[in-house]
Formats: sequence, C-alpha cells, structure tokens
Amino acid sequence: MGSISFRDVRKSYRDLQVVHGIDLEVADGEFIVILGPSGCGKSTLLRMVAGLEEISGGEIDIDGRVVNGLEPAQRDIAMVFQNYALYPHMSVYRNMAYGLTIKGMPKAEVETRVHKAAEILELMPFLARKPRELSGGQRQRVAMGRAIVREPSVFLFDEPLSNLDAKLRVQMRLEIHKLQAELGKTTLYVTHDQVEAMTLGHRIVVMNAGRAEQIGTPADVYERPATTFVAGFIGTPP
Ligand code: ADP
Ligand code: MG
Repeated sequence: MGSISFRDVRKSYRDLQVVHGIDLEVADGEFIVILGPSGCGKSTLLRMVAGLEEISGGEIDIDGRVVNGLEPAQRDIAMVFQNYALYPHMSVYRNMAYGLTIKGMPKAEVETRVHKAAEILELMPFLARKPRELSGGQRQRVAMGRAIVREPSVFLFDEPLSNLDAKLRVQMRLEIHKLQAELGKTTLYVTHDQVEAMTLGHRIVVMNAGRAEQIGTPADVYERPATTFVAGFIGTPP
C-alpha cells in the first residue's frame, strides 16, 4: 500500500500557472525527492497530494483511488513540515499521541504506537519532557514521530531540515535515511538541497518553473542531466 500516480497534474492561482502537467508513477516503498529552487512549485505539488491545495487539472491517485476532492483526513498520508509546531504545554508523549487520541483510538494501542515510534527515533528517554527541554534535533524527531504513529501509506516531507544548522542537518539526514530503511514507506520529500536529494532519493524529480525537467535516479540526473537547467542545478556545489 502506498503507490501514487500523478497524471497531468496542474495548479493555477487565478491567471498564474505554477504547476504544469506533472506525470509520475511512484511505486510502493519508493523514496521520491522533489528538488528545485525556491518558488518552482515543490510545496504546491506536495500540498495537492496532502489535500491542502485544490488540484486545478489532472488527477492524483493514491493506491488506485482518485484523491482529487478528498479531505486531508480521508487520505492515507502524514506530513512533516519545515515549521513543525509542537504543542509547548504537552509532553513529548502527548505531542505524539494527540492525533491518535482525538480520533478515539484506545489508550493501549496509542501507547504501543507511541513507544514503537519513540524506539525508532530514540526518543524513549525524553517522553516526559516538554518541547522546550529538547534540542532542535530532538524536536524535529518528535515532529516525525507524530507522523509515524499514524502509520500512513505515504509520508510527505516539506523541507523538514531547512531550519536546522548544518551539523544537525547532516545528522537528521542520516536519521531519515535510517527511517526509510526501517519503515520502507512511500515518501515524497521536498527540498532545494542537492546533497539531501542525492543521498536520500531512490529517484529525483528536478523541478523548474512548475515543470519536471527530469525524473531519474541520482546517478541519472548527475551523470546524464536532461537539460542545461538540471546540469547547472545538480552541478552546483552545496
Ligand atoms: P516552492 O515550494 O518550490 O518554493 P511554491 O510551491 O511554494 O514553491 O510556490 C510556487 C509558486 O506559486 C510561487 O511563485 C508562489 O509565489 C506561488 N504561490 C504559492 N502559493 C500561492 C498562493 N496561495 N497564491 C498565489 N500564489 C501562490
Ligand atoms: Mg516550498
């Protein structure tokens, strides 16, 4: 469970078209990086998958079901943002449990899921702490924990590391890599960082001005860039 099809997916804000006809088949378990400069439409594309933006044209399927028009809660997805907002007055445990508790999940199952996610993210020693008592990296792991406990078919990440300092970014990149290896869940990961894209992606969608300039493995886009834009963007040292 977790395949995604994009068929000629488009987005316009009034007269301004910001996503132009994206076609992409994502297999179950694939880690897809959507890479491109600021303003090229990465977040808009991701937000259409999440149901946070209406799709102007074309179709998105998740597990063979058309999701155009479905509410975010009706889609089997969980999203981690750049500006993850943890509830400051709640413990780490409650921050992770909250989304399950409000859905009425039995306490025992909530606990099982939170503990499982906390094990993977190495947050077990911190469950009783408040967000202000955590480091930036730990807080980011809690934000990921909130997504993991929902056990979705698809994870969506929108520049989750861009607010962290360089050292922490490297560390969290490794954590996400480990997470991918352990969970094997379908992931769409938005970034403008070439190194993140090259190290995390099974395949990379290189976007420019609302279009997918190239879709390929890291080796494909690095060794055989399809356009001068891809060559320039991938070739730029971080
Ligand atoms: P990225 O995530 O790649 O930086 P975005 O998807 O956020 O790019 O934005 C793509 C384009 O769409 C930009 O030109 C941006 O200004 C425009 N845009 C994004 N959201 C809106 C909105 N709600 N209304 C109008 N234009 C928007
Ligand atoms: Mg963005």
